Amino acid sequence: MHEEADGAFHCPCHGAMYDQQGRVQRGPAQRDLPRFQVLQRQEEEVQLVAIATEAVPTETVQADFYVFAADVPGIQHLFSLAEGETHPHVAQQVERLAVADPFAVARFWFDRDFPWQHSNFASLSGYSLTDSITLYHRIQEDYIDWAKRTGGSVVELHAYCYKEAEFPTQQALLTTFERELYEIVPELQQATVLHRELVNQKNFAGFPPNSYAERPETSTAATNLLFAGDWVKMPFPCGLMERAISSGLLAANEILHREGLQRRSLLSVNPQGMLQI
Ligand SMILES: Cc1cc2nc3c(=O)[nH]c(=O)nc-3n(C[C@H](O)[C@H](O)[C@H](O)COP(=O)(O)OP(=O)(O)OC[C@H]3O[C@@H](n4cnc5c(N)ncnc54)[C@H](O)[C@@H]3O)c2cc1C
Repeated sequence: MHEEADGAFHCPCHGAMYDQQGRVQRGPAQRDLPRFQVLQRQEEEVQLVAIATEAVPTETVQADFYVFAADVPGIQHLFSLAEGETHPHVAQQVERLAVADPFAVARFWFDRDFPWQHSNFASLSGYSLTDSITLYHRIQEDYIDWAKRTGGSVVELHAYCYKEAEFPTQQALLTTFERELYEIVPELQQATVLHRELVNQKNFAGFPPNSYAERPETSTAATNLLFAGDWVKMPFPCGLMERAISSGLLAANEILHREGLQRRSLLSVNPQGMLQI
């Protein structure tokens, strides 16, 4: 976005014009720009928080059962907003939930393709940050189309549970990802980066030692409150997306059961030997 002399904003990609407040003056854009408040400014970094342009409607939802299925920070936030009495044991269980070290994902768009003999999603080891590479221009339709039209490539690197102290800024993450990408795919050193995006968050469910016993289950001590999500204690071994989906199905089954209705079968691995819990 370019700021014009009169304070208006011009989008160089599609030609839209916005006034000083970010309101659309000329299309093709159909929506005004989102507004952010600067919370903190530090050298070249700013911390932003979205400004709601319309009043957020509040509504009381009356229901027989409530399934809370937010991530760990979300569940803790919801409990922090609770008015009146919360069940002390449930509140304590929620408070004790942990998040894992943060994760980071960087996606790069290049002006050329490169030879690749391995899987289009490959786990990697031996790098200080990167633990997998995905070739999006070979697996996802819109990127395949883009690559066909332009001859370019789209590559994503992941870092699950990186150490925040070693990579304290987004710049440190990007620089390391980029350096490691050129080690993994040396052919890309000659390519031009057309675009890059970085996402890093700290909301992966954490499973520290000894957290099993106190982990909340589907049903809670608050009779009409149920939990779902990849952090919920499960009666069979599963993790991540499978855990998230299974916990949602368990919550639905619990409600069906309490309402005297038939539960749906849920298949899992047979918990035997090392997998027995
Ligand atoms: C980059 C990446 C790659 C992954 N790859 C894989 C993979 O290959 N295989 C796999 O099995 N898993 C993978 N995972 C993990 C998987 O995505 C998660 O385990 C799964 O999505 C968790 O689902 P969930 O429903 O528990 O939580 P989420 O999908 O995190 O959903 C929680 C929802 O709660 C909402 N929320 C948060 N706070 C509030 C609030 N206060 N009020 C209301 N709503 C709120 C959020 O907006 C979000 O929509 C990956 C995760 C990431 C980040």
